[in-house]
Amino acid sequence: MRIDSTLDLVADLKSLKYKNAVITTHHKPDGDAMGSSLGLSHILSHLGLNNTVITPTDYAENLIWMPGNEKVIIFENNVQLAEEILQKSDIVFCLDFNQIGRINKLGEKIVSTNLPIVMIDHHQNPEEFYQFAYWNNESSSTCELIFEWASTNFGVEVINSNAANCLYTGLMTDTGNFQYINTSPQSHKVAAELMSLGAKHVSIYETIYHSFTLNRSKLFGYCLYYKLEILEDCKTALIYLNSQELSQFDVVTGDTEGLVNFGLGLKGIVFSVLIIDRTERVKMSFRSKGNFAANLFAAKYFSGGGHINAAGGQSEEPLEDVVSKFKTVIQEYKEELNLIS
Ligand code: 5GP
Ligand code: MN
Repeated sequence: MRIDSTLDLVADLKSLKYKNAVITTHHKPDGDAMGSSLGLSHILSHLGLNNTVITPTDYAENLIWMPGNEKVIIFENNVQLAEEILQKSDIVFCLDFNQIGRINKLGEKIVSTNLPIVMIDHHQNPEEFYQFAYWNNESSSTCELIFEWASTNFGVEVINSNAANCLYTGLMTDTGNFQYINTSPQSHKVAAELMSLGAKHVSIYETIYHSFTLNRSKLFGYCLYYKLEILEDCKTALIYLNSQELSQFDVVTGDTEGLVNFGLGLKGIVFSVLIIDRTERVKMSFRSKGNFAANLFAAKYFSGGGHINAAGGQSEEPLEDVVSKFKTVIQEYKEELNLIS
């Protein structure tokens, strides 16, 4: 399914109706969130539109190399400056999320400005908080959508090598390096075009995946040795970490990314969950195989959502209660999970 209601927006951008834009993305931005935001930033600059990327929170160290990163404002660290920039803007682009509530306080600020909002996203069930939308839940990534939208409407020349490197990053990370079900022939075509435009695929891969700290590797070892639990009757793997364990390994943003995939890598396992006690709330990551809808499960029990095979959720309850709730509710899906191979 797709929505493209950007016809007037494209005309307005071509006639330079807007002068200053804010680009924002989801809480704890990942490769696709930062890649699409910074990629779009370079494209809008090429179109003559001043713009600032404002993220709700910080993000992983392995994303800070991206061109344009030095100008990103982190809202939670710099509320006043972010508000001043928003006041001076005349349009806001919301990328890689589709519910304004997912960006907490920054979402409230954006709504209160009454500025036109553009949503570009590939998650299920968008909320109608936008004036313009470019949305396709069959697209691999927001980066793929930005490439299509910009090249179709403005010509491929608006994508310089800086933009290409940013966009390739999100395309690569959101497809799990072109291995997930969301990888389409179109994703490969876009990757090829981005390489022609200057995306350096080897250095992007190495910068993203070969830059872990020793603590992070030890955390993974600890989790796999001591913490990985198998709920055999539900073909499910579970890892949970309390705040004391997080401080023991000096866990910083991004360190736990990828951990949930280890559960799914086990033979016979079709659903994997990672539950982490972040101080402000308990955060959950879900990964599934086949047609088990992790996003519907996350939405039903843990105020979450996402994609069919990769979703997330959260809870305000104590960690032990969340783990125990998970173990109880997963039983309802026992039969469904056992049908998946
Ligand atoms: P991750 O487990 O990598 O944090 O997230 C997996 C997918 O689920 C991503 O596409 C992410 O945007 C989405 N997601 C993660 N947490 C939430 C959440 O709390 N709500 C919603 N709607 N989506 C989420
Ligand atoms: Mn994405």
